[in-house]
Amino acid sequence: MRDDLWFLERSICRMMGRSINDMKWVMPKKGVMRIGLDIDGVLYQWERTARYMLREILPNSPYKEVLKQESTDWDWIKDQVSKKDWDWLWDKGIKLGLFRHGHLYPGTIEAVRELANLGDVIAVTSRPKRTAADTFAWIAYQRLPIVGLHILSSKEPKSTVRPMFDVFLDDKPGNVSDLSINTSCKAYLMRRPWNKNYVAPEVHSWKEFIEIVRAL
Ligand SMILES: [Mg+2]
Repeated sequence: MRDDLWFLERSICRMMGRSINDMKWVMPKKGVMRIGLDIDGVLYQWERTARYMLREILPNSPYKEVLKQESTDWDWIKDQVSKKDWDWLWDKGIKLGLFRHGHLYPGTIEAVRELANLGDVIAVTSRPKRTAADTFAWIAYQRLPIVGLHILSSKEPKSTVRPMFDVFLDDKPGNVSDLSINTSCKAYLMRRPWNKNYVAPEVHSWKEFIEIVRAL
């Protein structure tokens, strides 16, 4: 098996006219598991923060009652608010801390620490470029043992990140299928109320995900 991999790596390098040393960046570091984690909806309670801001921070909010309820589908919040208020969230809301002041999901710090004992933990998020500074600050503030961060701000699929992950956890069904179809990564859906209608390899808790990673 190892010889087959070596042959494959050599063949790819030859096809691209590159030496094996030039290509090391493409290939996962042998022996260290790469564990990819989505941020919003997995580590960070973005959905709760967004509802809070639209209820309590938006001036004269008409959503004080309706947005007390957790999202029941992927675009649920967007469907409840006007375009003007949705645009407020992504402009003024970002400036006021949409990606900075919300909470982690319970158990996240302990879970990420445990995962960091099993491999390298890398965060991957699809967020606008203007959220980068808040994303760096938030990760630093949480003191999570995360050793890498990818901010995909041009709608790049997560399958384009290199080196590829061995295992990944996301709350967006499209990301799980993208990684499953286009890479060798084992991708899992963190089951949340807004993705309950989608079929995918799933986990319901950090404990369940850690058990899967431990068994790899
Ligand atoms: Mg997410």
